[in-house]
Amino acid sequence: MLKSLWHTKEPVNFVAMADGLFLVKFGLREDRERILNMAHWSFDQCLFSMVPFVKGQDISRYCFLFVPFWVRIFNIPLEKMERQVAIDNGSAIGEVLAIDRRDREGCWVEYIRVRVKLDIFKPLRRVHYMVGAEGEEILCTINYERLPTFCYLCGCIGHHTHKCGMYERIKGVENLEFQYGNWLRAQMGQLN
Ligand SMILES: [Zn+2]
Repeated sequence: MLKSLWHTKEPVNFVAMADGLFLVKFGLREDRERILNMAHWSFDQCLFSMVPFVKGQDISRYCFLFVPFWVRIFNIPLEKMERQVAIDNGSAIGEVLAIDRRDREGCWVEYIRVRVKLDIFKPLRRVHYMVGAEGEEILCTINYERLPTFCYLCGCIGHHTHKCGMYERIKGVENLEFQYGNWLRAQMGQLN
């Protein structure tokens, strides 16, 4: 499925290694760079974490925990829509890899778009506070593009709500507020 999504110029081969681990062989360096730059990738809503191959490096030394995501940060005041603010806001979420500068092409966008490396075992941040011109706190909403399987209870990627360790404890509790429920609904509304 990934092969068909990638539209590479040269063929790609997947070599199954250990459990869930694959070596992806690109026929062309250009394809490899493009696909790594476009990560993250998902298969059937499951995150496919990719790291560049390093010649001679032992498999145990590869770290698949940090995955790049494009993130949209909403509610930043117009006068604050600048590079440093994007970096500061992105850094609150993860390591900033890139900033999307599309707004500089003359079209107004209502969010700042930042590429950040996320620790995929940590709950996702839903909001972030920034300080406005008058020293006031501004609540910014964070949206994650192409979010894979996600748990509304604990806010982690990789399992569904009913498979969450917290689920058994709260089952049967009435009028339960799902911590991430409203956030995700709002997110879907904004992205559609
Ligand atoms: Zn969970």
